[in-house]
Amino acid sequence: MIITTLNKKILILPFFLMLMFVSFASAGSELDAKKVTVPIVLHLKWFHQFQFAGYYAAVEKGFYQQEGLDVVVRERNPDSNPVAEVLSGRADFGVSDSSLIVARMGGAPVVLMAAIFQHSPLVLISLSELNILGPRDLVGKRVMIQRDVDDALIVATLNQMNIDESQINFVPHNFDNWALLKGEVDVMSAYITNQPYLYRQQGRSVNIINPVNYGIDFYGDNLFTSEEMINDKPEIVKAFQRASIKGWEYALSHSDEIIDLIYKKYQGQNPKDINGLRYEADMTRAMVKPNVVEIGSFNKARFNHIAEMYQERGRVPKDANLDGFFITDYFQQEDQSSVNFRRLSVITAISFLLALLLLAINYKLKAIIADKTRDLVVARDAAEASARSKSTFLASMSHEIRTPMNGIMGMLTLVSRSHLDSVQKHQLKLASNSARALLSLLDDILDFSKIEAGKLDLESVDFNVIELMSEIAQTHAFRIQKKRLEFVFDIHEVELEQVKGDSGRLRQIINNLLSNALKFTQSGSISLIVSTSKKAGGEVIVCCRVCDTGIGIEETKLNTIFENFTQVDASITRRYGGTGLGLAIIKQLCVAMNGQVSVTSELGQGSEFVVTLPLLESDLIPELDDHVTLANYVIGVIGDQQQSCQALANQLQRWGAQLEVLDSENAYTAIDRFFADHSHPVIIFITLECIINDQDRWSYWVEQSPKNIQWVLIMPINQGDEAQLLSSVKFTFTLLSPVVPQQLRAVLSELLNASSKDKSVAVIDVDSRLSSAQNLNIAEQCRVLLVEDNYINQVVACGILEDMHLRVDCVENGREAIDTMALMSSSDPYSLVLMDCQMPVMDGYQASRLIRAGEAGNAHVNVPIIAMTAHSMQGDKEKCLEAGMDDYLAKPLDAQLMEVKVIENLHRAIQQSLKDTEL
Ligand code: ADP
Repeated sequence: MIITTLNKKILILPFFLMLMFVSFASAGSELDAKKVTVPIVLHLKWFHQFQFAGYYAAVEKGFYQQEGLDVVVRERNPDSNPVAEVLSGRADFGVSDSSLIVARMGGAPVVLMAAIFQHSPLVLISLSELNILGPRDLVGKRVMIQRDVDDALIVATLNQMNIDESQINFVPHNFDNWALLKGEVDVMSAYITNQPYLYRQQGRSVNIINPVNYGIDFYGDNLFTSEEMINDKPEIVKAFQRASIKGWEYALSHSDEIIDLIYKKYQGQNPKDINGLRYEADMTRAMVKPNVVEIGSFNKARFNHIAEMYQERGRVPKDANLDGFFITDYFQQEDQSSVNFRRLSVITAISFLLALLLLAINYKLKAIIADKTRDLVVARDAAEASARSKSTFLASMSHEIRTPMNGIMGMLTLVSRSHLDSVQKHQLKLASNSARALLSLLDDILDFSKIEAGKLDLESVDFNVIELMSEIAQTHAFRIQKKRLEFVFDIHEVELEQVKGDSGRLRQIINNLLSNALKFTQSGSISLIVSTSKKAGGEVIVCCRVCDTGIGIEETKLNTIFENFTQVDASITRRYGGTGLGLAIIKQLCVAMNGQVSVTSELGQGSEFVVTLPLLESDLIPELDDHVTLANYVIGVIGDQQQSCQALANQLQRWGAQLEVLDSENAYTAIDRFFADHSHPVIIFITLECIINDQDRWSYWVEQSPKNIQWVLIMPINQGDEAQLLSSVKFTFTLLSPVVPQQLRAVLSELLNASSKDKSVAVIDVDSRLSSAQNLNIAEQCRVLLVEDNYINQVVACGILEDMHLRVDCVENGREAIDTMALMSSSDPYSLVLMDCQMPVMDGYQASRLIRAGEAGNAHVNVPIIAMTAHSMQGDKEKCLEAGMDDYLAKPLDAQLMEVKVIENLHRAIQQSLKDTEL
């Protein structure tokens, strides 16, 4: 910007200076114009003709007038010559040829002002028929010359050619143009600018002897004045000189105009025809040489040389000289052009200096800018490096903080399971709530700073929407159910399971919304309802609704809750805690994924958050549902929680079952009628709350029910003391709520297989393996390997596993794990491995890969491996699965979630091994 401005200034400056110059240059003549006009007489050496064009032009174009001079141009007077006219004062200025030198050296105080003709137009002409071609031919001829005027030039030419002048018959000039024709003389001096033309006009050709061709080069017409004039009126002399030169410049560049002027106005005593004037103009220009020398300029040395020739001829005294002859001897001739030249030089010099100055400033500024740019680049690089290190810092901070938090929370869990009084239990609960809150706060701050730093990296991975949502639902189920809230998980509208997008961020969003729902809901239900719809171009819109029947949000606050650090009001913060960052992060994440989040809520009634994300259809082919074709089945669902039952019913219906949700208020009657109505194979899904208060009767019912009836118990995920009580009731299967499609499919496929065989055997078999009550017995037979290098984590994980009555061995790194497992492979193989990811010697990823490769013995090639990692950053789960692990637990370990995962994986392993032995 600065440079551009400077450049403009550099451009403007010369223009400005030019303006100054123009006004400065014209200032003198303007001032002069105001002067009183001085009458001036210029006496010419000949009659009016183009030879004096410059003076007429100066008069007619007002150049003299502009100088304050009123000039009369007077033509030749036969009775007097210009020198006499000027010296007598009858004229102020005169025009003379080089004979002016003779006058000066003869004592006349004349002063040369300007040499107009750079060459003399004086030549000798003769009629062609006389055949006089050169100076030698002049010998014996009558030669008419102007004595005292022409003879120096002519004699000098003769001398140059070594011709004795006495051999020539010189005749005084009679100024008759036609003297040659009349035969009065053989040769006459004439002006090359005129007479040859006149003779040619008469049809006579003439020979010309031009002294220039013989090396004799005199000046022609000169402008002069008297010493007196110079001394008395120097300003007038200068003014006259300036205007005359200007007139000559004009006349030679506008010759047609001046020819016309002379023809009309300056015919005088010796009239000319227009063509004669044109001829003269051309010849005059050749003498004046305006394109070669500055008009009026003269060379003193050349004048001195001419003077010497006169001296040699004896025309002037030997001791005479030209001192005082030149105007420059009186004052430094300052003609306008030289003044202008000087002014221009000064201005140019100033301009040059200013330009130099500006260039220097420009250069300096460029240097400053270059310095600043360098500084900025350094600062930017530093900022980028700092941002990079901030990102790394965030990641490692996440890891470093989670590890001790894992210890704290794990220990709290273990202590809470020991025998405590109610006050201690309460205190412990508060401690673990605080720890959990601290962890979620840390997660929020990490995310928030990442988004702020523009470091939010989005992934695009293939994932199964139903599996992802099921995992999330299971993670939250325990706490939701513990709060005695109904948890509705409805995914029956998921048409397309396999999609591509950032599963980690979607999980984060839904987790956050479910946590909020749980936080702000004291009674009623929390729902996670998911649907997908396919759009053109491989786009899949995933829509997740998280609804609750909690405290709700004031309408006026609905617009602001997605802003950073916004909470509805301070009392909510006091009561429920939080930072007001969660929803802001959700919003930013949705925007980053080109999706959106919205909320509707009614105070005291509850809220509904809807997240809509455009994901992509996955290239992976979805698994087929062929094992759950329920067309021949009639299914009854009975439970206190209407919405959950309906969600289950929706899912079963989608698989083709004929379905009825039965009245739980009058369960016996409803089921009785249901049996009576259907002869098809019937499956009853019944929730724990329905039977918990009347177990014996239900036990009888289940056992006595007809053979085509299968019973599936749905019980809360926190299989607390109630579950222990159920050992007496022999259900065919047990499912944990919320019922997730994967488990439902597994149970149904078992049911369908069993019913095609002998039902009683099938029931006993399946029952003995999978009933919830017997999970504990199975657990005792299972041996689990814990691979963990951190002592506190070992204690925590071991504590949880031992609480589950599992046999646990503990090793500290992957290498030890492989060795121990290889040792146990044939005798007592492990049923499950819990694998930390980051360990010394060998990490969990490497160890898992080696286990799958058979390095830990054949019995362990398919052993379930659950990863435990403090890395909760994106892509961790995928990394674990890629290494061959089956499942994933984030640290700090959530005891309940760990139990669920352990049981699930053990079930799967046992089912698989039973299948293998059956085969
Ligand atoms: P915080 O960490 O405070 O929960 P959020 O950004 O997640 O921050 O939520 C901002 C505010 O929005 C909360 O403080 C609460 O007032 C309100 N809010 C969020 N979810 C719910 C909900 N499900 N029910 C009622 N109020 C909610």
